[in-house]
Amino acid sequence: MLNLDFHPTGRHFLQIPGPSPVPDRILRAMSLPTIDHRGPEFGALGRELLSKIQRVFKTAAPVIIYPASGTGAWEAALANTLSPGDGVLMFETGHFATLWHKMALRLGVKPEFIGLPGDEGWRQGVQADMIEARLKEDTEHRLKAVCVVHNETSTGVTSDIAAVRRAIDAAGHPALLMVDTISGLASADYRHDDWGVDVTISGSQKGLMLPPGISFNALSDKAIAVSREACLPKSFWAWDEILAANTNGYWPYTPNTNLLYGLNEALDMLLEEGLDNVFARHQRWAAGVRAAVDAWGLEIQCQDPAVYSPVLTGVVLPDGVDADAVRELIYQRFDLSLGMGLGKAKGRMFRIGHLGDCNDLTLMATLAGCEMGLELCGVSLKASGVKAAMDYFAAHPPAHLTRLADA
Ligand code: PLP
Repeated sequence: MLNLDFHPTGRHFLQIPGPSPVPDRILRAMSLPTIDHRGPEFGALGRELLSKIQRVFKTAAPVIIYPASGTGAWEAALANTLSPGDGVLMFETGHFATLWHKMALRLGVKPEFIGLPGDEGWRQGVQADMIEARLKEDTEHRLKAVCVVHNETSTGVTSDIAAVRRAIDAAGHPALLMVDTISGLASADYRHDDWGVDVTISGSQKGLMLPPGISFNALSDKAIAVSREACLPKSFWAWDEILAANTNGYWPYTPNTNLLYGLNEALDMLLEEGLDNVFARHQRWAAGVRAAVDAWGLEIQCQDPAVYSPVLTGVVLPDGVDADAVRELIYQRFDLSLGMGLGKAKGRMFRIGHLGDCNDLTLMATLAGCEMGLELCGVSLKASGVKAAMDYFAAHPPAHLTRLADA
């Protein structure tokens, strides 16, 4: 039932780790009239988009754009490259790695799910040495792919994808490398070609700052070659027909035209800013938010500072505190949405997203909402996180100001 007494004023604070707040510039672009998806204007848009999106994945290879959420692009990656009964090595980093593993089981391949014991794996990134050791044992090459999540949205932990590539090479194993960067792309550094990734999966509703509804498979020549032999059933997801239609900027079915207008605008925004500046901006926001969590005296879910996510921070609440009750109060009192603890972390943590259309002051408001909510719930805090974040942001001006000062 809708709560009809709840009439918030001002803008809602959407600080979940995606869908992220959509910039007005993108919303305006999406409001243009829908055009004929088989007409010349659309073909020109398609060709422009398909070329610009390669720059964000850092690839010279084709990027497939699906009118689907990220889960669809996960399925597309598996269905295009694998055959029934194929072995797949997957690494447990959190809830999304777990869901991808579940999908692989449902599709009829044989995924092996390895990881650190207990809850430890949900607080660290992928352990490339464990992947290398398992691949070395697989002398008959039954494992056809290694699947890892680059930015685990359920925990706020990233993984070193270049290290996974090195592990596969060190084992001399031909498995494909498939990487989910649904919540990492366009916020955290990502290099499809340099890191030797065969299929990268991503989505629209995180770093690309779009609403949900578009997802991606970036390919490699090897992945395309393997897909010609792979025989899991596929039709809508099949790369071959999409690649053929894409050569002229079209799709074999009706694409989501207005979301593609938005994507075109998002790509312009990101490329105008420069990807390195985009990554630095997210790192700085993440550091400000972590300064607040440290000052509160609360634990960050990620235990390895080398792999803190620039996209979100997982805040672990003291034993006995129901994180969902804290989130609920914060939502009701301050119209602020925070990410919930998922899977093994349910009720134990909340997640603060620092991505999309936000800035220092939206993050300060977010942290103020968290601090007030925690205090209202009786969580004892060591010091003011809001003050710590203010101090951090004041002492670390954004890079564009530093550049102006240097000019
Ligand atoms: N993988 C990761 C890392 C995610 O964060 C998500 C969604 O948040 C998914 C997969 C699933 O994508 P979707 O919900 O768009 O289907």
